[in-house]
Amino acid sequence: MNIAIDFGGTNIKIGLVQEGTVMARTSIPAFSQGGLTGRLPDVLASIHELLAQNRYSLSECTGVGIATPGIVDAAGRTILSINAKYADAVGFPFEKWLEEALSLPCILENDARAALIGETTYGVASGETDAVLMTFGTGIGTAALINGQILRGRHHQAGILGGHLATDIHGQACNCGNHGCLEAQAGHWALNNLARRHPGFEHSRLARADALNYMEILEAAKSSDAVADELLKVLISHWAAGIVNLVHAYDPDIVILSGGLMKSKQNIVPLLQEYVHRHAWTPWGQVRFAVAEDPDTSVLLGVSRLLIMEQAKSG
Ligand SMILES: [Zn+2]
Repeated sequence: MNIAIDFGGTNIKIGLVQEGTVMARTSIPAFSQGGLTGRLPDVLASIHELLAQNRYSLSECTGVGIATPGIVDAAGRTILSINAKYADAVGFPFEKWLEEALSLPCILENDARAALIGETTYGVASGETDAVLMTFGTGIGTAALINGQILRGRHHQAGILGGHLATDIHGQACNCGNHGCLEAQAGHWALNNLARRHPGFEHSRLARADALNYMEILEAAKSSDAVADELLKVLISHWAAGIVNLVHAYDPDIVILSGGLMKSKQNIVPLLQEYVHRHAWTPWGQVRFAVAEDPDTSVLLGVSRLLIMEQAKSG
């Protein structure tokens, strides 16, 4: 059995995973703006609690798989760069921490890559060898699998910066240094500014919300709020253009969509699919779409899978 930890922007999810099944899981608030190291005592306490509650012992666990946002050096088990959250996680020695705290080895991977590995090993795209994933969280995460190989690249950033491919070069400044990134145009953190710039915003029911999220825009659009309806069209065109960018860059058979936004997949996925099929240059045919059934599980399963692969290699 493996311990899997997913350091998300909002919650830290912890699971006990055995042969592609999450046996038990729990979640604690991330407070990621406050950094990573301050949360580690709570993470350890939650692991011990989860084991005890489910009558497992630490000695049954063979390792720890960790997923985080940001640019991750999987081989070096360190975070190289991270945007806005967990600022103190860069360079943090995960291996040393877990060796001291639990006497267990670990692997580390970017969360979108972990989700893609989880979905193509055990999930909605099981067995697929050429796939991209786009996940809608605080930011927009992506990953690519080509010919069965997860794309990492010389500087560890291949495939994962799809949220920072521009969908409008004259667009908004992004926190990565670029302008008009998909994330800056249509990511969760950009919604407030996007909505406030929209003509007529003050007459929309969105003006009454404290901090906008995707669901509020979707709900308002459903209730015939004209501003929300137009905003949703803008968002969908950016998301779809972002997917076309991934299709052009990585040549997948299948696009996997994930994250909280997919709770409204019936309102969104057909529109994304239609745009992508109309705009992507794919003379071989049409890329297929799949939606992750449980985004939290896919990350936990993905890091567990990586741990198994790593242990098979070294064992
Ligand atoms: Zn950017």
